[in-house]
Amino acid sequence: MVDAHEIVAMRWAIALSARGLGTTSPNPPVGCVIVDHARQVVGTGYHERKGEAHAEGHALAVAGDRARGGTAVVTLEPCNHVGRAPACRHLLLDAGVARVVIAAMDPTSRGDGGAEVLRRAGISVETGVLEPEARLVLGPWLAALRRRRPHVTWTYQWADGRKCDIPDAEREQLRTQYDLVVGSAEVEEGVPGGHGLDFVMPAQAPQFTPSGLAELWSSGIRTVLLTHARAQMDSDRDMIDAIRMVVPAAAAGDPVPAGPPIPEGYALTNVTRAGTFVVLDAERPGA
Ligand SMILES: [Zn+2]
Repeated sequence: MVDAHEIVAMRWAIALSARGLGTTSPNPPVGCVIVDHARQVVGTGYHERKGEAHAEGHALAVAGDRARGGTAVVTLEPCNHVGRAPACRHLLLDAGVARVVIAAMDPTSRGDGGAEVLRRAGISVETGVLEPEARLVLGPWLAALRRRRPHVTWTYQWADGRKCDIPDAEREQLRTQYDLVVGSAEVEEGVPGGHGLDFVMPAQAPQFTPSGLAELWSSGIRTVLLTHARAQMDSDRDMIDAIRMVVPAAAAGDPVPAGPPIPEGYALTNVTRAGTFVVLDAERPGA
């Protein structure tokens, strides 16, 4: 059973996890909140880049002794392998937490990950808590892991012959959530210099073929934002998992733009207005 305080804490952890978008790869963006035995939040943290502390490590460092007997609420199963950072299940055991609440399981743990080890150590472990909400942040990383290639989002300004200027702030905000931004000729890191160890920038714009994407995967890249023109997108369609399309909202009396903007095979996941534009997010179902 999960109580209402743990649900609130998990949503907080999910919000924190998004702070890592665009810099954690090849590691996942994870958030963690530590709640003490009196249900007070005593520590929060998120993973920022590989080679630095994991979310649990940051949150436990803030909580200190107040973690003892408390609960760790974390968006992804704590890791069970000792790499550059100590395994998180080890940190949680040392800190003396009594309970661990997890949203998504780590597919790389193959049933022998942190959750199982924590259970065997006598800690109360809940899994699958708000998992669909945690996947709003973890989804692309998990999809990349499943396919051994980066998750690819194509962004397109569907101007239909008219001038369509997206405010720079909006453009910047979008780019920084991806490891790599790929245009027709240029390739850039979403957050310049933002990544840690094991991340290699490609020297030139990658090929959107299975082998080209597999190469990006082995360079530590997990998410890509494509800014290609429409014709290019059509040829790369099989490799595109998600679309963000910006459509100018027609003023009264303007001719209605021709054709459906979202290609066949994708479903809308979000529709918002941004000033005089409409922003459409779509995904290939099951992507
Ligand atoms: Zn960890």
